[in-house]
Amino acid sequence: MKRDDKIHPFISGNKWRKLKHQLEHAKSQNITNLVTFGGAWSNHLLATAAAAAQFGFNAIAYVRGEEIRNPVLDMCRLYGMELRFVDRESYKNKHDLFLLNHNSENDYFIDEGGKSELGLLGCSEIIDELKNEYDHIFVASGTGTTVAGIQLGIQQKKLKTTVHSIPVLKGADHLLDEFSNWEIDTQKIKLHLDYHCSGYAKTTPELISFIQQFIESTGIMIEPTYTGKLMYAVFDLLEKDYFKPNSKILVVHTGGLTGLLGHLDKFNR
Ligand SMILES: *Cc1c(COP(=O)(O)O)cnc(C)c1O
Repeated sequence: MKRDDKIHPFISGNKWRKLKHQLEHAKSQNITNLVTFGGAWSNHLLATAAAAAQFGFNAIAYVRGEEIRNPVLDMCRLYGMELRFVDRESYKNKHDLFLLNHNSENDYFIDEGGKSELGLLGCSEIIDELKNEYDHIFVASGTGTTVAGIQLGIQQKKLKTTVHSIPVLKGADHLLDEFSNWEIDTQKIKLHLDYHCSGYAKTTPELISFIQQFIESTGIMIEPTYTGKLMYAVFDLLEKDYFKPNSKILVVHTGGLTGLLGHLDKFNR
């Protein structure tokens, strides 16, 4: 397992990889305000809030849905992020929200989940850091940026590795289509579409009990929205003899453990 969850407690895993080059770019343009978007439990919002505080930016976030409080949003505020709640209809058009309320001289647009070409580049660096060559690499997917970035890294290094994506959303068949614009050979990425447990942040009793067992038998924390579904899928495929004997398999822990806070009521031990 590649422990990207150890990168930072809140600028976690793949969110740091996606932000890194965007923040460098903003700095190089002397832009002081980061403007971004997310749902109420977004790991990306918290990562952006923490990174903004650490690297001297102001941060404004448009949060989808009516105004609520939860531990993730409270932590965003602690880091000094300004939260602006917007209804789902206005949220859909992020570029309009940006153009209407901001100017690109002082404000830097960061898409939902950190999705961008620079984010893709940051995720490709996962491959640069590997000391061994693997037959398979597994990662959980929301926007697909991380898995597309890993595929970019594999292409650049001309590795034979197959990268596998576990989409955590339902109906993610076309998740990777738009990444072909960025010269990612998306045909080579293997999507496993049956591990979303009925949709984003949805769970099943099997998933919850798997997570509980995984954590207590390994000492590695995972959560139900992303890494829990990922590990569940890998273990299920192992059980179904999906892999050739002696295959070298790497799983990327993309962090995001604060997601657990939204699911604690489901764990009753
Ligand atoms: C956001 C997130 C993902 C999804 O990454 P994408 O690049 O959007 O596919 C995966 N794992 C965790 C823990 C995340 O927070």
